[in-house]
Amino acid sequence: MSGLNGAEFYSAYDEEIGEEKETIIQEAINRYLVDNIPVQYILGYSYFFGYPFDVDENVLIPRPETEELVSYVLAEYDHYFSGEEVTVVDIGTGSGAIAITLAKEEPLMKVYATDISQPALVVAKKNAQKLGAEVEFIAGDLLQPLIVRELKFDILVSNPPYIPKKEEVQSIVKDNEPHIALFGGETGLYFYEQILANAHKILKPKNIIAFEHSYSQKKEMLTIAAKYFPQGKARVIQDMFGKDRIMIIVNDDKDD
Ligand code: SAM
Ligand code: GLN
Repeated sequence: MSGLNGAEFYSAYDEEIGEEKETIIQEAINRYLVDNIPVQYILGYSYFFGYPFDVDENVLIPRPETEELVSYVLAEYDHYFSGEEVTVVDIGTGSGAIAITLAKEEPLMKVYATDISQPALVVAKKNAQKLGAEVEFIAGDLLQPLIVRELKFDILVSNPPYIPKKEEVQSIVKDNEPHIALFGGETGLYFYEQILANAHKILKPKNIIAFEHSYSQKKEMLTIAAKYFPQGKARVIQDMFGKDRIMIIVNDDKDD
């Protein structure tokens, strides 16, 4: 808002800021304190994995737990595909945080990303361009656009909407972030069921599936995984807050 970075701000601490800037800053403070708008929407960006992503009210503000999801995908890649070119898809990409970060961090990943929200894809494409990442964005409902294109992937990653419809959500989230990014049907599990029921259509025989999920659904997630990938190795990992948050399924013949 001041137009200064942190260092410039502190070295100019004793200077008058002028009336025009004061008004801008005061308005921004009011939007936060009075209107309850998240700081990231006010500033127009949020850091994810060290990269500045543009965000607006059409996209979820990327969360630190999702940075952990990205780290696990990179680690699983290193374990199972190290040095190989792989195709990766991020379902429900929002700001593009997961897809763009993977493309930046691992050049051997050819990354695709989908979203049903056209306005979200506008933000994601802008972020890819600004951050110099090569990602193929495709609009559509879950796996449908990938199935019709007959694309096949080594890695599927997704942080789908997973809040159960009736769960109480902080007002700063519920009143500002897109509901299409938050709510995962009656139980919160709708998107995992849909994705896992169809995933075999877009995955190569050896593949990795990685999800972020609700802290309360470890058991349910493992049950759905076993239902659709009975031969797969599924595990749930806790996030930095000690909450069950990430599920990885590895489908690799050699593991049997
Ligand atoms: N991947 C981003 C992240 O981790 O910050 C955004 C995740 S947000 C929780 C879920 C995303 O899924 C939203 O961008 C939403 O528009 C998208 N979405 C919701 N329903 C969808 C559907 N049927 N098909 C594809 N994407 C969908
Ligand atoms: N972690 C988000 C929240 O609780 C929800 C994200 C999601 O549904 N994938 O606000």
